[in-house]
Amino acid sequence: MSKKNLFGITIDELKVELSKLNIPAFRADQIAAWIYKRGAESFDEMTDLSKNLRQQLNDLYTIRMVELIDKLESKDGLTTKFLLQFEDGANVETVLMRHNYGNSICISTQVGCAMGCKFCASTLKGLQRNLTAAEILAEVVFVNNLLQLSNQKVDTIVIMGIGEPLMNFDNLIQFLKLIHEPYTLNLSYRKITVSTCGIVPNIYKLAELNLPITLSISLHAPNNELRSHLMPINNNFNINEVVAAGRDYGDTTGRRVTYEYILIDELNDTIKHARQLSNLLKNQLANVNLIPINPVAEKDFRRPSKERVKMFYDYLNSHGIGATVRKEMGAAINAACGQLRISHNNI
Ligand code: SAH
Repeated sequence: MSKKNLFGITIDELKVELSKLNIPAFRADQIAAWIYKRGAESFDEMTDLSKNLRQQLNDLYTIRMVELIDKLESKDGLTTKFLLQFEDGANVETVLMRHNYGNSICISTQVGCAMGCKFCASTLKGLQRNLTAAEILAEVVFVNNLLQLSNQKVDTIVIMGIGEPLMNFDNLIQFLKLIHEPYTLNLSYRKITVSTCGIVPNIYKLAELNLPITLSISLHAPNNELRSHLMPINNNFNINEVVAAGRDYGDTTGRRVTYEYILIDELNDTIKHARQLSNLLKNQLANVNLIPINPVAEKDFRRPSKERVKMFYDYLNSHGIGATVRKEMGAAINAACGQLRISHNNI
């Protein structure tokens, strides 16, 4: 009989498991702390449990988190990208960015992606499968364990790695609730950003849950024609529906929505596009994050010059739309979405 994996279990589920063995419920707190906070990957490490108890647990359970298969570090030491592998061999990228305001990690929610955005490396070979809540949690606990070695921790999470989080909705929500629990990282929802390409019905569903997380919407074009060209999902949910859902999210949660806009040379970065974008977003609790594109080897989109980026940025800010330009951290180490994974999986 294969042993049951305890990684990802909630404390209540753990208590039920332990009660079957007549183990008192308070042991669940100790065991959960070992698994989620103290980096234990075996019961032998749980030195405040008796030897007998450790043996008993060992006979029935395992703690399987995730395996590191590759790691890339930027020259300045600020960004580390991990390729992490799950039991079935599926792997995803997780990126640690050391900002002056703390350690931020960018995590994946799916193995591959079905969305087909033209500029994105994660989607080149389609979707392999969803990650479970436990697997998403494993990405965070893995990095947190590493940081703890130098008395640090994960401070903020952006769910902007491989995959479309709102296409893995239930597991995403289960993960958000788990990471918020005091027995895991106790992370405030305000420290979490979810990024979506615009799965409209699920943006409304997320708003209804009213968790104070930040929503980021990948817009990338200011009109339907161009957006459909870049992002096939726009044929299912068009730009007006996406922006209406973003407005609803801001109204319901009181949280400012971020619109992400990749700048691609001569394609979506002219003043005409900036004007369309500011008309689209005016009177909305929103800001725009401009991302000069990370050219993906397989695609022929070019990054605009600094002057063009500045022109676009200035236009938005002088027309009432708060815009920022994303600080680039990972491009030099293939940190752009999906690139390390591609280099490993020969796809
Ligand atoms: N599916 C979600 C989250 C993953 S993508 C979403 O679409 O938001 C995270 C962000 O990285 C998105 O804004 C995405 O458009 C952007 N991105 C993808 N490829 C990129 C590239 N080559 N250069 C810069 N940003 C990119």
